[in-house]
Parts: sequence; C-alpha cells; structure tokens
Amino acid sequence: MILVTGGAGYIGSHCVRELKERGIDVVVYDNLTTGHIESVPEGVPFVKGDIFDVELLCETFAKYGVDSVIHFAAYSLVGESMVNPAKYYHNNVAGTLALLDAMIAEKVGYLVFSSSAATYGDCGSGLITEDSPQNPTSVYGQTKLMMEQFMQDYDKAYGLKYVALRYFNAAGAHVSGEIGEAHNPESHLIPIILQVANGTRGHIGIYGEDYPTPDGTCVRDYIHITDLADAHIRALDYLKSGGKSTYYNLGNGNGFSVKEVIDMTEKVTGLPIKREVEARRAGDPPTLVASSEKIRRELGWVPKYDSLESIISSAWKWHSTHPRGYSK
Ligand code: UDP
Repeated sequence: MILVTGGAGYIGSHCVRELKERGIDVVVYDNLTTGHIESVPEGVPFVKGDIFDVELLCETFAKYGVDSVIHFAAYSLVGESMVNPAKYYHNNVAGTLALLDAMIAEKVGYLVFSSSAATYGDCGSGLITEDSPQNPTSVYGQTKLMMEQFMQDYDKAYGLKYVALRYFNAAGAHVSGEIGEAHNPESHLIPIILQVANGTRGHIGIYGEDYPTPDGTCVRDYIHITDLADAHIRALDYLKSGGKSTYYNLGNGNGFSVKEVIDMTEKVTGLPIKREVEARRAGDPPTLVASSEKIRRELGWVPKYDSLESIISSAWKWHSTHPRGYSK
C-alpha cells in the first residue's frame, strides 16, 4: 500500500489517478489546506491529516499496511516563499522531518519525493543536468534542497531508500478533463492564461521582459502532469526492486518563454489573450530547462505529452469546463 501525502493536490491527485488506473493500492493523506476532496477518486481511502501529526501518520501506516510514501504535501509558490519564508521552512522542512520520523518509527522504507528545478537556481541558458550546481534563488527551492539533504543522511543512518524527482514546470490536466489545476489564488502561468481565455480573469501579467533570454521573458520547461505521475510510479518500482537512493530531473528538454506560452494558448483556444508587462517576480531565474536523460536511460521514462501544444490542450479541456475549478 502506498500513502500519498498531498494526494488531493494538483500533482498528487493526478498521481493517485494514475496509480488507481493501474490497480495499485493507495491511501490519500491530505490536510485539505490547498487540496480538493473532489479530486480523490471514489473507492480510494482518504485520511484528513497534517504531515506534522506523527501519531496519525503512524496509525495510518499501521491501519493500511503502508510500505512506501509518495510525498507531495508542501507549499510551492516561489513568490510567496520570498515574502513568507517562515511558512515555507516550517511546513516544508519541519513537516517533512515529522513525516520521516513517522516513517522510521513504523519502518516504512521507501520514499518518492517531489523535489524541484528550483533547487538549481540560475544555471545559465544550457540544459540542466543532475550534476549542475544546486544554488537555489528562492526560499521555496532552498526548502526542497534541504529536504533532499535530510534524505541523503537518513539513507546513510536509517536505510531510508528514496528517489527525489526534480520537476521542472508541471502543467496540463488528466485526459478525462475531470481533474486539473485549481489553486486559490492561482499563481501559475498556464492556468492564469487559461483563466483569461475562459473569461474569469481580465489579462495575464508578464513578470518582466528584460531577462537575458531571446524575447526577454523567462524560459521554462513544461512537463505534463501524467508524465510526472508515470515517473513516480517507475521510481517506486525501481526502489522496491532494490534500487539505490537517487535523484532525477523531469522535464521535456524544451524551453518556452512566457510570451511563447501565451501565443501557443491563443493558437490552442482560438481566443485572444490580453497581456501586460509587469515587474519581475522575486526569486525567478531567467531560464530553467531540464536534461532528463538520466531517468530516460535508467528507468525507461519517456514523456507522452512532449509538445507544448498537447500540454496546453489538455489543460484547456479542464479550464474550459471548470472555470471555477472545483467550486460549483
Ligand atoms: N509568470 C508570469 N506571469 C504570471 C505567472 C507566472 O509571467 O502571472 C512567469 C513566471 O515569472 C515564470 C513563469 O511564468 O517565469 C512560470 O511561472 P510559474 O509560477 O507557473 O512556475 P515556476 O517557474 O515559478 O515554478
């Protein structure tokens, strides 16, 4: 049995859906601060709980016979982390320590951890490999790097086996259009642009056009949420078949600027997207593009949604039918 923390959140809910579709047993653990109960599939056990609640975690591990954890529960906004670092260090760092305490107490030995491209910081314009230096430019990135470091030490001391997946920009929605991205307030690029398209927002603000990139706007590597989910399942299979603890980048290897994403959304939706240039957002590196060769080579992972157009189309299926997200 796999316990998914943050399993009612955006990435977690897509991973849970993928696990369920493959007939793998899963229990969702989420405090619903940012997650949505509506995204938990029927028949999947749900425990409302906090990652700080070691007692409840231990009880849940024992009750469901949990042998592995996929850990998504975290705050994940670069901008917010710069103005409220306490929230990020407390929840992401101290919360993960509590989860690890519970795992060690109950001998739950496998962990797939959602790390981030934000652990690299500004690496210039080339492809980022797992060996690129990790110098986060944001508090959010710093929290994810700290968690990677804990896990390394916990492996050495307690034998915890983990895979850290450093995602680039998770995007898109489940092929059914039944679940998708729904943050409140929304702060991510693609859902904001699609809110302009579905009429719930007036314009998209472009955070800076004076970056050292071809069109002056930030370049990111967008990866489909179902491809991410598949990577988590592969990582867990790898650990359970005796694999050593390790880490992988997850991206498509293609960078798109903010302006290119807006232009592609106009093409996909057939609607004009009003845009305005605004100030830079603190903590944003100019370019983050992944080399995912390592996970392709070692785990045979291949993204199915490898074009920006297919990623935005899947997100549009959700946003055009759920203009208010999960709210009625
Ligand atoms: N961005 C933007 N306007 C917005 C939201 C995001 O220009 O309203 C930019 C942001 O500065 C970054 C890129 O879009 O360069 C992707 O941001 P997002 O928050 O989606 O993901 P992040 O890169 O922070 O993980």
